[in-house]
Order: sequence, then C-alpha cells, then structure tokens
Amino acid sequence: MTEATRVLVLNSGSSSVKYQLIDMAGRRRLATGIVERIGERSARLVHTPADGGRRERGGPFADHRAALRAAAEELAADGTGFDSPELAAVGHRVVHGGDVFSGPVVVDDRVIADIEALVPLAPLHNPGNLEGIRTAAALSPGVPQVAVFDTAFHTTMPEYAARYAIDVRTADAHGIRRYGAHGTSHAYVSRRTAALLGRAPEDVNVIVLHLGNGCSAAAVRGGRCVDTSMGMTPLEGLVMGTRSGDIDPAVVPYLARTAGMSPDEVDELLNRRSGLLGLCGDNDMREVTRRVDEGDGAARLALDVYTHRLRKYIGGYMAVLGRVDAVVFTAGVGENSAPVRAATIAGLEPLGLAVDPDRNASAERGPRFISPQYASVAVAVVPTDEELEIAGQAYDLVST
Ligand code: ADP
Repeated sequence: MTEATRVLVLNSGSSSVKYQLIDMAGRRRLATGIVERIGERSARLVHTPADGGRRERGGPFADHRAALRAAAEELAADGTGFDSPELAAVGHRVVHGGDVFSGPVVVDDRVIADIEALVPLAPLHNPGNLEGIRTAAALSPGVPQVAVFDTAFHTTMPEYAARYAIDVRTADAHGIRRYGAHGTSHAYVSRRTAALLGRAPEDVNVIVLHLGNGCSAAAVRGGRCVDTSMGMTPLEGLVMGTRSGDIDPAVVPYLARTAGMSPDEVDELLNRRSGLLGLCGDNDMREVTRRVDEGDGAARLALDVYTHRLRKYIGGYMAVLGRVDAVVFTAGVGENSAPVRAATIAGLEPLGLAVDPDRNASAERGPRFISPQYASVAVAVVPTDEELEIAGQAYDLVST
C-alpha cells in the first residue's frame, strides 16, 4: 500500500487560489501554484513543479471549482491528483477562527457552519476560504479536509490581554475582543527560533516581528502566545504597508462628524490609504528605504513612524514576558530589509538588544543570528513558512 505522506495546502481568497503540494516524509515542496483573477477573462494559472518546468494556462476559470479543477489536473500530470492514495490531507488556511477554534480541525458540516458564522469578523477572507474548502471537498471526497486557523495560535492569550476595556455586555454581544492574526507564522517562527537557539520551545521566550504587507508582533512564552499586536481585526498594532495600526479610536467618529465620512470610507482610509502609503505615497518598503537613501523627508518620516511603533511593541513585550531570549524578524520586510532591522533595534542597547552590522548585512537566507556573539538577548532572522506549518499541522492531525 502507498503511504499517504503528501499534503495539499490551499490558500483560497476571494478571487485567487494559491496551492502547494508538500511531502511531509522529507518536508519537501513538490509543487507550487496560483490561479489568479478567478471569474475574470484574464484569469491565469501558473504551476511550478519543484524540479522545474513552470507551466501556465489561461482561463476562463469561471469560479473556484473551475480553478481548482485546473490545479488538480496540473498536479495529476505530475503524479499526485486529488484522488491519489499518497494524499494524506488537504490543509486549508482559514483567516478567522474567532474564539471557537484553538487548533486545526478536520472539516465537517458543523465546522463549515462555525466558519460561516465568523464571516462578519472577516468578511474579506472567510467566504473565499469556505469556497476553497467546499470545492476541494467535492473534488477529493475521500481525503480529509483540515482547516488551520490564523487566529488559533493566539487563543492562549490570557483574558486580560484579549479583552478591550469596554463594557463587557456590549463586547460579548458582538464578539468584540482581540483575536490576533498571522498565528500560523508566529507559531512556525517561534518554534524555529527555539531550534536556532538549540533549546526546547517550552524553555524559550521570544518576541516575533512578522513584517510583510501586514505586520504584527507576538510575545511568545514557552511556545504559547501571551500577547499579539493585531486585535479584533488585522488593523490594530504596528504600522503596515497601507494600514494605520494603532490610532485613537475617537478619530473614527471625529472624521464621521467633521469630514462627513461614512463607516465604509473610514474603514477604507485606515485599511488601504494609511500606513507607509498614507505617510509617504509608497507602501513597498524597498521603495521607502531607497527614497530615504536619497534624502526624501516624507519617506524618512514614514520609516521613523514605522520603527518607532516597533520599538514601543518590543519594549512592551519585554515587560510582558519579563525574560526575553530572542527578538526575531520574519516575512517580506523582516527577512529582507537590513536597514529596517537596524533602525528598529537602534537605541535598544540598554535593554540588551543590538545588531551586528556585518551579520545584519549578510546575504545568507536561512535562520540566523544578527546580534553580536555575546549579546544577552539574541536578535535573529527566521524565514517564515506558513504553508509548511499548515501542512505539518494537517498531517499531524490526520496521522495520529
Ligand atoms: P504578505 O504580507 O503579503 O505575505 P510578504 O511577507 O511577502 O507579504 O511581504 C511583502 C513585502 O515585503 C513587500 O510589500 C515589500 O515591501 C517587502 N519586501 C520584500 N523584499 C524586500 C526587500 N528586499 N527589502 C525591503 N522590503 C522588502
């Protein structure tokens, strides 16, 4: 009998589906792919097997079913169709699990109903995730579908970190509390950091800084999240590419009253026209740092606001954790931008944090330290791998 060791990871959005086929036997990626602009005439599938030979197909892919069917055909052509005996599970990224899901689950009707009930908390994401689950279940009826939630890692936050200090009845009636996001990445990176330190995750306290288009920080004590910067939605916390992060909540009614803005307009302002983009007109950190090097004042201010906010969270989480073994940078900006890492840690020497310029500038890609050798708190760069984490969680669930 063929042993089922492969997991298909699906990240299904409203108009795109990203997928990866991972063999858990050797933690090897066998193929990656994306179907973009589902439902549009310009829809396109790009499939890349690990051994090379990228393949592209034009649409039309009328809906998620057509898109996933095409992806399944490409995967089958490489030898692992949706009905392959080697497929142990399909692992689905689900953005919001509310306070219902504290770990991965095998999907059944009840799970689908619960994810559906959480749509008001993630209206842009959960519907696309559900579409992916329903479609994959129909295409691979014999294979367990596993939902892995971006919020699950944060369900260990103590109540005092998850609560907003507002009227409890109003909060509970509307599910208003801090759920966090990027949990799959924080889980993977904090565990990987413990391995880099050569210690068990239970013995290590880390602050993870996930800096991509969206940015969040997490305080992780002994492998469990005790605080994180994103809140009820992924708007709270750090300055991001286009999102404001923390602001005085009174700004919202003030803009409604004085500028006549509707709730949707304020939502759009804070989510899409703020952050680095709002401050300097660019949301890509490569462009921001290039402009800083040219002496551009607006870009300088944007970078300063961004790193100042990061330092406030690092200091705050050092106080929350008491003892910190490592501060670790991950995701697009965190993994690639030496200037952002240096500017963030600058001035934190009294707290035991420092960056070694040569180590920080190194072109090395893997998990690595960027602090000086004898620093009391390690500063590290650990590339995230959300797909591998989803595959691992799904595989562990179905094979135990
Ligand atoms: P997402 O949050 O969408 O998963 P990523 O983690 O891939 O995003 O991060 C994307 C962001 O990473 C880009 O918007 C860009 O600003 C930033 N980025 C990528 N490469 C670099 C680089 N070499 N220097 C600075 N920033 C970078």
